Amino acid sequence: MSHNITSVAVIGAGAMGNGIAHVCAQHGYQVTLVDLNEDLLQRGMETIAKNLGRQVDKEILSKDDADAALGRITTTTELAAGKSANLVVEAATENTDLKRQLFQDVDGICPPETILASNTSSISITLLGAATGRPDRVIGMHFMNPVPVMRLVEVIRGHDTSDKTHKTIVELARDLEKTPVTVTDYPGFIANRVLMPMINEAVYCLMEGVAEKEAIDEVMKLGMNHPLGPLALADLIGLDVCLSIMEVLQRELGDDKYRPCPLLRRLVAAGHLGRKTGQGFYDYRK
Ligand code: NAD
Repeated sequence: MSHNITSVAVIGAGAMGNGIAHVCAQHGYQVTLVDLNEDLLQRGMETIAKNLGRQVDKEILSKDDADAALGRITTTTELAAGKSANLVVEAATENTDLKRQLFQDVDGICPPETILASNTSSISITLLGAATGRPDRVIGMHFMNPVPVMRLVEVIRGHDTSDKTHKTIVELARDLEKTPVTVTDYPGFIANRVLMPMINEAVYCLMEGVAEKEAIDEVMKLGMNHPLGPLALADLIGLDVCLSIMEVLQRELGDDKYRPCPLLRRLVAAGHLGRKTGQGFYDYRK
């Protein structure tokens, strides 16, 4: 291993944070998992244990290795406990003010050499770096959901991210058996800038009555070899998340070609956010 990271603090034990903690622990890193309360931490640890168990069932991992991975994770509600980590990966709620505050706080807590990464889907890495006194050691590490399964990590260089920080994170991602792809800090990076307008266009097709939802998804599955159709995928991601990313693209790129479809807005207003609320484009309540 050519980088010097041995321990990682992960902020946020939600869908992404617990996946990042899982993958880091599985690959031998000591992990400190931070969230706001014990309930959230316990839920995160239960998900990690369940997903490690699934890897054991599929013979990807031995039972001993899964137990060892679990043993490398400690949980805490104290951000300050992350100060001994060589790398902090922030995977808290997608909110600019919250993340800027977290970066400022972590910058005050961690030694100057610690690298601070964010798993944000759409917030500027440059903006987060500017909230710290170490913008050269701030970088984006955009894992995909579900983290233990998906190979890609978009590595996002902020305006002041140094070559050394970039190299370290690329090496770390490879060590986690991921494929890092480096992109520059522009709204939505690559993954969401390309994916979200496609989903949004599928919603326009539905709104305009071009086809039924099942037909739209079928065309993209059979015609483009996508494992999930765009509307089913939007339900999985969360319609509120899709809407907020479209709003970021429209606002920050200043181009109305990114305007969110009114039907997407209406479903979010109704509280139909996809799988997580039981209803989105499809009904999951049965
Ligand atoms: P989530 O809501 O499942 O989890 C976020 C967690 O952060 C919650 O448990 C919350 O309690 C915690 N949190 C909030 N404020 C905190 C604080 N001050 N200190 C510690 N913990 C705090 O969200 P998620 O889906 O895991 O998303 C996390 C990040 O990953 C977001 O930036 C999101 O844009 C990004 N992301 C999400 C996906 C996805 O598919 N869900 C994919 C890629 C990236």
